[in-house]
Amino acid sequence: MDGGRGYARSMTAAPVIDRALVDAFGRVATDLRVSLTDRCNLRCAYCMPAEGLEWLPTEDVLTDAEVVRLVEIGVTRLGIREVRFTGGEPLLRPGLERIVAATADLRPRPDISLTTNGIGLARRIDALHTAGLDRVNVSLDTLDPDRFAVIARRKRHADVLAALDAAAAVGLRPVKINAVLLRGINDDEAVPLLRFAVDRGYHLRFIEQMPLDAGHRWSRATMVTAAEILAALTAEFDLTPSGEERGSAPAELWLVDGGPATVGVIGSVTRPFCGSCDRTRLTADGQIRNCLFAREESDLRGLLRGGAADAEIADRWQAAMAAKLPGHGIDDPGFLQPARPMSAIGG
Ligand code: SAM
Repeated sequence: MDGGRGYARSMTAAPVIDRALVDAFGRVATDLRVSLTDRCNLRCAYCMPAEGLEWLPTEDVLTDAEVVRLVEIGVTRLGIREVRFTGGEPLLRPGLERIVAATADLRPRPDISLTTNGIGLARRIDALHTAGLDRVNVSLDTLDPDRFAVIARRKRHADVLAALDAAAAVGLRPVKINAVLLRGINDDEAVPLLRFAVDRGYHLRFIEQMPLDAGHRWSRATMVTAAEILAALTAEFDLTPSGEERGSAPAELWLVDGGPATVGVIGSVTRPFCGSCDRTRLTADGQIRNCLFAREESDLRGLLRGGAADAEIADRWQAAMAAKLPGHGIDDPGFLQPARPMSAIGG
């Protein structure tokens, strides 16, 4: 019985968590990022070329039932407590609502969130909320529709604002905004973006641009750093450390003008947080990555389609995470950007 939702096999079964995803440095992965597609309906210049990419062949992409089976193994056997659906653009996945519903039926029930560009979210937010979606992060790099069209190469700024409104209206709070600042393009928007977020009760997080673009054009010299972002913000706002236990959270959190509003800065490059990373990643074609910057992946799709039992799949997943390196290595002289870009890994 799965509540008519279609996929979950063990909603009523007792949890069988018998092991954790532990690596050689003692980190435990409890946060699963699931990429539901490598495709996107935007072409953000720092992520994808204008013409798009060579997409994964449909037959390589996990079916909805396969995604749910792997999420179930993660949650019921391997101690996953948070599941975030991403992409590419996860709203391009027609079965998203059913995947969310099946995930919400799992026990122990994981926290379920979505990272999205927001296009089409307003139309689907009620169904996603009903399915069990707990939170949403919407990406918004600029308040200027014309700039948006330059950065994302699509005129969809109004859709993103509508998505934020819709998420807040349905009660998916806190609604989070992810923003990437690009030198000479929107690096003057740290303050306006924060004002916008504070006025509307959204939680804004700035993300340092990482070497994960498809064109391999990232350069440390032009990246807008966490220190620069904080300098711009402190010229206008009084920022004090939030005092909250950071745990495995990637964002350093600051109270804005004494709070309760906060702003987060994710300094993935200049202030890495690998030592407390608790993430494990599943690509749309069923590969486990133990790090955004990993150069190796572990194939769960082959096992799944070869008829492997859950225990065997869990073993492979566990071995993949055990091999996680201590850090992403961006500062190492021999650093090589992973073969897959952010959009294909799942951001
Ligand atoms: N399409 C969804 C979205 O727009 O949120 C999910 C996927 S997107 C890859 C996830 C996040 O990664 C977005 O906030 C995007 O701005 C960010 N991103 C993409 N490329 C990045 C890069 N090279 N460095 C830092 N963040 C990046």
